[in-house]
Amino acid sequence: MLNLSAYEQLNQRCQQAGARVVAVSKTKPIKEIQALYDAGQRIFGENRVQELAEKAALMTKDIEWHMIGNLQSNKVKYIAEFVSLIHSVDSFKLLAEIDKQASKYGRIIDCLLQLRIATEESKHGMDFDALISLLKQNEMDKYPNVRILGLMGMATYTQDKSQIESEFKRLKASFDQLRSSYFKANEAFRELSMGMSADYELALVQGSTLVRVGSLIFGSRN
Ligand SMILES: *Cc1c(COP(=O)(O)O)cnc(C)c1O
Repeated sequence: MLNLSAYEQLNQRCQQAGARVVAVSKTKPIKEIQALYDAGQRIFGENRVQELAEKAALMTKDIEWHMIGNLQSNKVKYIAEFVSLIHSVDSFKLLAEIDKQASKYGRIIDCLLQLRIATEESKHGMDFDALISLLKQNEMDKYPNVRILGLMGMATYTQDKSQIESEFKRLKASFDQLRSSYFKANEAFRELSMGMSADYELALVQGSTLVRVGSLIFGSRN
């Protein structure tokens, strides 16, 4: 069930920290999304292409829809026309496809590069060193229809706060390093997507600008 007071609190805390809330509405019905919209929320995140496309079609057009989940290249075409930000770019093959689909619609699609910071093998994302080597080869110049706004990462699923904190610190350090080197000329490179319901406070302290929060706002998912 939607918890509006938890949402207001989160929103206030994020404003204090200079961050924005991405309300993660996966599995949740339109009715609840509409209720949160009515409370003022405009950024919603989904992790499945089909669900994202269906919900976007049903809602008013002033919502920013963010794709936050693992994205397969062959599905980019279903969201390319409307998606506001793709958080989960974990390969240059995917970036190439986003660029291609964006150009079909005469758009530039904003993206975040997802780095793997967790120890779990299951978590997606690029390794920092692999990313650096691609950037050194000027790979980025090949994709005029994408704009990189920053980085995204997911911490390990653990109760160990010091581990989560150190993973967020590492992501922030990678972000700072990239911003001062390869993205120096790109003023838009200023977003750091990290933190979810359980660890958003740690993330804000470490410099997150976008927290992706679902269950805290909408209640647990079945
Ligand atoms: C589901 C999801 C979230 C939100 O998780 P909560 O724990 O419900 O806040 C954040 N990021 C990604 C990538 C997700 O898939």
